[in-house]
Amino acid sequence: MSDMRSLWRVGPDVDLGAIDPRSTPGLPGRKVTGDDPKLWARAEVERIGAELATQQEMLFAQATVEPQLGRSVLLVLQAMDCGGKDGAIKRVAGTMDPLGLQIKAFGPPTPEELQHDFLWRIRKALPPAGYVGVFNRSHYEDVLVVRVNELAPESVWRPRYKKINDFERKLAGAGTTVVKVMLHISRAEQRERLMQRLVNPDKHWKFNPADLDARAKWDDYQAAYTEALATCNTDDAPWYVLPADRKWYRDWALAHLLRATFTDLKLTYPQADYDVTAQRSRLEADG
Ligand code: ADP
Repeated sequence: MSDMRSLWRVGPDVDLGAIDPRSTPGLPGRKVTGDDPKLWARAEVERIGAELATQQEMLFAQATVEPQLGRSVLLVLQAMDCGGKDGAIKRVAGTMDPLGLQIKAFGPPTPEELQHDFLWRIRKALPPAGYVGVFNRSHYEDVLVVRVNELAPESVWRPRYKKINDFERKLAGAGTTVVKVMLHISRAEQRERLMQRLVNPDKHWKFNPADLDARAKWDDYQAAYTEALATCNTDDAPWYVLPADRKWYRDWALAHLLRATFTDLKLTYPQADYDVTAQRSRLEADG
């Protein structure tokens, strides 16, 4: 199959309004999926997930054997509230060995974090060589919520686009493959998911009244996302938009995206730097 990433890669004139969150680009027809594409996609995620686990093990093994050549992968996940970041992490990133994952969620900055540059807390959370890092929200909040809620003046947030591009270029140069994904849900789907949290007492803890304040600013958020996607979409750190109203499609697409990212790295298991036969003979001789 050709590289599917082009299905989701944004261009300079990205228009979120033109990307249907319920669409399923790249999904094979019923001849392949059978009558239930959802079931098929879930099975595919498991199958591809096993490949992701192998790739991640090779990443880890290479960094262990040759630390100076070790690489890492960083998946940046952004979405509106209820966009499915948690579900995507559980179902897709969760196919890999937890020991090789470094997952970090970014909430409102602490008083200490606010005393530093916005990238300070991000730098501290970067995955070491051999690891797959996942950011559940990220430095992009500093040009999203900060912009929409006017937490800082434009003179502060606007220069951040360039700072982010410089930062991500250096990251890539230092051996971190950066993949940035926006899970794109519709306003109607968000309403549905928020309502589910309110009608089910077991989900009440997940509902935050502030989510409705953010929802009221939907258009402002879409505009802020659009500018971030268009301005910070570099070859060093590309942005992808995955239609995410259908959870099974979202996971399927993310699994493909990650597999293609790993494939680029051409990972292999490291060769032994000792005489395997001699070591085997030693062990065989030992009782
Ligand atoms: P999530 O919604 O991702 O599951 P939370 O409910 O803890 O997790 O929400 C995290 C909150 O932190 C979001 O409202 C987000 O806008 C906010 N946040 C993250 N980064 C920043 C930031 N740099 N400045 C202000 N708020 C931020």
